[in-house]
This record gives sequence, C-alpha cells and structure tokens, in this order.
Amino acid sequence: MGEARLEYSAPAHGRVRVNVNPLPRRPPPVPDELLSSWIGRLARANHCSVEELCGYLGLGQGRVPERMNDLGQVNWARLSPAVEQTRDDIAAMTLPDTMHLPVQYVSNDDFQVCINCMVQTPDVILRHWRFAWSLTCENCGRPLMAKYLADGISDRLRVRASRGAAVLKTAVLDNDLRCMRRISFTLSILNLLGLAHTAQLTSRGQLERSAALAAVDVCTTLPLLGAAILLRGNDRAFWELRRVFPQHRRLIERVRRLSQDLEMRLPRRQKLEPSPKKETQRANRPVASEGGLRAARQAISELGSNASR
Ligand SMILES: [Zn+2]
Repeated sequence: MGEARLEYSAPAHGRVRVNVNPLPRRPPPVPDELLSSWIGRLARANHCSVEELCGYLGLGQGRVPERMNDLGQVNWARLSPAVEQTRDDIAAMTLPDTMHLPVQYVSNDDFQVCINCMVQTPDVILRHWRFAWSLTCENCGRPLMAKYLADGISDRLRVRASRGAAVLKTAVLDNDLRCMRRISFTLSILNLLGLAHTAQLTSRGQLERSAALAAVDVCTTLPLLGAAILLRGNDRAFWELRRVFPQHRRLIERVRRLSQDLEMRLPRRQKLEPSPKKETQRANRPVASEGGLRAARQAISELGSNASR
C-alpha cells in the first residue's frame, strides 16, 4: 500500500475519529467511468491487488460494488477521503438498480466495449457501455464492439436494431412502465417459442442482440405485424397458442393469416446457429413452460389492445 495508511486519534470526548490518508496515486476517473473499472485502475496505479484496495477502502472482500444498492454497507468516512471524491460523485459511478423494472436493460458483464477508448485508457470500462440500448460510445462516438461479432448483419437489421434501442432508451428514461412491459412480453414470446437464445438484449453475440433489439422495434411500433414476423413458418407455435389461449383465437388467426401472407412474400427467416448443447436442450424441453405461457397470455392481451394498428 506504500505510504497509504490509516491513522487513528482519540479526541478528548472519547469518540474515536479515523483520519484516512488519500491513496498515493489517484488517476482521475474518465467521464462516465464505472466504479469497478476505476477501482481496478486505482489498484494497478498503487501496485496492489483489487482485493487489498477494497479492504483498505472499507469495501469488504467481496466483489467490487457496481450497482447503486451495492453501496449500502460502504463506510463513507473512509472511502471518500481515500479517493478524494464526494459520496455523490462515487454513487454516480454505479449502475442503476433494475430489479423492480419489467425490462433488465443493464448487463452484469462487459458484453461490449469501445476499442478506441480502451486504447486511450487501458482497462477502462464506461457505465453506458453496459446499457442494452448503447450502440455507440458516448465518449468518442465510435461504434461499440460486441464480444462475438457476426458477419453479414444486414443494413435492415441494423436500422431496426437501432430503432429498437431508441424505443428501449426512451421507455426507461421516461419510466414508461407500459412500454417496458410490452418489450418484456415481446421477449417472453420469443422465449416461449424456443427462440430464447435470440432474445437477449445484452447478449455478447452481436446477431442475437441485434435480433432482440429489432424485435423491440417491430413489436412496439407494429405489434400485430411483429408477432406475424416472429411466428413466420412456425405452425406448431400457432397450434400451441390456439390451444393455450382459446379466448384469443380470432386474434391468433389474424396473426397467422398475416404470417402466411408474409411467408409468400419474404424469404424465410435466417436460422441462427445454436450450439449443439443448446440444440439438445431445446429438443428435450416442453414447448411452453407455465411461466412462459403466463407471459404470453399477457403479451397477447397487449398485442390485442393494439390490433387496429
Ligand atoms: Zn469510445
């Protein structure tokens, strides 16, 4: 820890006051840097492990705090002076808590990064890179790079994905619960139909994530058409939906006719390449789980409410 150390002094009234020396080396945080990223860089600058630094800063030995609710146990009297940042500044470096929201739009891992910013500041991770809607770096304006890049993503899918990203961002920033629920239902339908691996808003795979964001766009702007596109060529899914939702038979029939019409006009949906393990799991699992059906039931009600569009 070099010169950094804790000094204790006991004033006359008997309460123990803790004076904390600031860390010897304090590279300033990059704008919008994630707290865990900055703590990692502070540790390297001060030639100690992240665990040692967390112990010194009073952050415990567990994982470095990333979400707002990870800060509950923080000893601010120790952390703030050690890094010379206010409590508000440190809290602003964390990710929001999303557990109470219908859509989980924040990733727990670095599913995408900006290569340019990482060349400028090695090991840096910015907060907004973790958001499902972020497609370009707000720091330098370059496209964010997915962990697993895909060849041949069509311009149409790109455009649709970026529109879906905008819809998602607006829904979250406006705290539009209705829209967030619709997005969540859309993804639940994909789940129900065994397309779960395509419906990841924060997937490390560029193609899977683009598909999920595109589904958000289609299903929020044109719900019926969206359902028809998603269900295209999947007769078994229509049969299953009719069986589970007899009360929505007319709506399902409408979607099926639209879907057949699309089938005649559009090329078949390009199949993604699932891993052999996933394929086995999918083959063995029942067509629809209870939770999935519940979600789909709500989803169909949502779609139905906009049938006229
Ligand atoms: Zn950048």
